[in-house]
Amino acid sequence: MEQSRQQCDVLVVGGGVAGMAAAVGASRTGATVVLLEKYGFMGGMATAGMVSSVCGLYLRNPEGRALPAAGGFVAEFTKKLAARQQAEPLALPNGLFILPYRPWHLVRLADEFISNDSIRPFLHTHLLSVKKEGRSVAEVECRYWNSALTIRPTCVVDCTGEASLVDSAGGETVQGTLQDGAVLFRVNGLIAGTRAERLALMRKIVHAAEQGVIHDDCRNISFFPGHAGGRSSLLTVPIPHDGAGAFSMTDMEIHGRRIIEEVMAFLVSQSYVPSSVSPETAVQAGVRVGRMAGGVNTLTLDHVLQCAKAVDGVARGCWPVEVWSGGRRPELTYLAQGDYYDIPAGCLVAAGLDNVFMGGRCIGAEEMAMGSARVIGTALGTGYAAGVLASFQAQGRSRKEAVAYLQEQQQKG
Ligand SMILES: Cc1cc2nc3c(=O)[nH]c(=O)nc-3n(C[C@H](O)[C@H](O)[C@H](O)COP(=O)(O)OP(=O)(O)OC[C@H]3O[C@@H](n4cnc5c(N)ncnc54)[C@H](O)[C@@H]3O)c2cc1C
Repeated sequence: MEQSRQQCDVLVVGGGVAGMAAAVGASRTGATVVLLEKYGFMGGMATAGMVSSVCGLYLRNPEGRALPAAGGFVAEFTKKLAARQQAEPLALPNGLFILPYRPWHLVRLADEFISNDSIRPFLHTHLLSVKKEGRSVAEVECRYWNSALTIRPTCVVDCTGEASLVDSAGGETVQGTLQDGAVLFRVNGLIAGTRAERLALMRKIVHAAEQGVIHDDCRNISFFPGHAGGRSSLLTVPIPHDGAGAFSMTDMEIHGRRIIEEVMAFLVSQSYVPSSVSPETAVQAGVRVGRMAGGVNTLTLDHVLQCAKAVDGVARGCWPVEVWSGGRRPELTYLAQGDYYDIPAGCLVAAGLDNVFMGGRCIGAEEMAMGSARVIGTALGTGYAAGVLASFQAQGRSRKEAVAYLQEQQQKG
């Protein structure tokens, strides 16, 4: 088939961690897959956003070892990520564990996973519009670098992080409004190895912001936990974000760079770094919760906090409900120690559309529940599950069979 027209069993839109996992899940269960990503590399927020630690992998356990919450693909991918950089899970004081990583390793590992005969990745490709036949997506129009690309899929998985495909198909969506966004940047040569050194520097920056020497938003700066250390520091500043409203992505990017510039000037003025040092900034400002799709089922806050299990559970979440809403620390509501919740298959199936599934940041969930389910460990799980659900449907196999397959995979370490 000519390159400008493609046909596939499963089309995955968005190549963040969820989209990458969805493509692998669909291809391993026999589907032909096309994967679209607007950047020239995979990983989305986990790479372009410079996030450098995987949350949501291990059960909360204040005293003991890091015990994985999920098996199957989540365990397989993150074990390989850890092995690439010889990283170990890092225990935080509140009993949580994270897996630190360098975005480069995640990008290369994702390249490896999608280099598979049944996955056709298109990088630098933007979803433009969707044509429907009845309640199904029949055709997807894209821009591949400088030319048009038309795809005719049997099923589609929306892993855009913003439910862009579901929205284009006229499906239900809801815009998250509670969570701040953030900018991340690395400062080479800024070595604040001990907690006391980091606190002392933070105090100085906060004082400078209070005195009006630097922008007030600099008061909320913090070191990013679990960054891969060395002779540099990874810093983050929360920035208010309300989707398409007053603090849009454009404002967030420009405002974020202004904040970073002021912090850099302050670090130079205090002789922390020489003036020759420029910050390494993330490719994009970070959005924690954006637009979510309406699912056949909705993941609720109660379900998450009660660590509820489900007969059609296809992925697992174990991270606390983390809400960033002003200030330099999130509000965390913890799950019971050593426990997790199931994510029902219906949360990954788009309401009102017959062949559309979702993974990662745009599954059907209450916004507060997404405060837990959005983290990388869980997004890997929902992405993989959405790919498998789509693959089974595209091949005429039942959802019950897909759920059974995923539950069996979950038992594998
Ligand atoms: C500041 C910040 C800090 C965070 N810290 C952590 C942390 O420490 N640990 C953790 O586990 N999680 C953290 N997270 C959350 C986590 O990074 C994300 O929730 C997770 O990576 C989401 O993955 P995803 O694949 O669902 O979505 P995304 O990463 O958003 O991926 C969506 C992908 O779709 C692509 N795309 C979008 N629209 C289109 C289109 N129209 N056409 C083609 N492609 C498109 C995007 O380029 C992107 O690659 C943080 C998030 C933020 C914002």
